[in-house]
Amino acid sequence: MHEITLVTGLFEIINEQVAAQGIESISKVRLKVGELAAVEPMTLAACFEVVAEGTVAEGAQLEIVEVPLTGRCRGCGERFRIVNFSFSCPVCASGDVEPTGGRELYLESLEGTMKSW
Ligand SMILES: [Zn+2]
Repeated sequence: MHEITLVTGLFEIINEQVAAQGIESISKVRLKVGELAAVEPMTLAACFEVVAEGTVAEGAQLEIVEVPLTGRCRGCGERFRIVNFSFSCPVCASGDVEPTGGRELYLESLEGTMKSW
């Protein structure tokens, strides 16, 4: 269960943005989570709720955008979706596949209200 660690790290980034942009309250947090990041969205959402309590993100909606696992064949250059962790090219059957997507785990955007100066 590494979701709580992820959420704690996420909040460090959120707090930086809150301070830098003068955000008063956050209504929505959009996260990109790759298929390979091995994150359980329900657990992540529950952890988020707990950590958000008492912060500007309290009650914010957590939107998780899942990024599929994709790869590129080093042999023929084909780009494809990797299903069932089968790292072989559907075109030339080469096993020399470079993963191109699916490890992501980052804050894509924040929605909230800014402080009026
Ligand atoms: Zn290929």
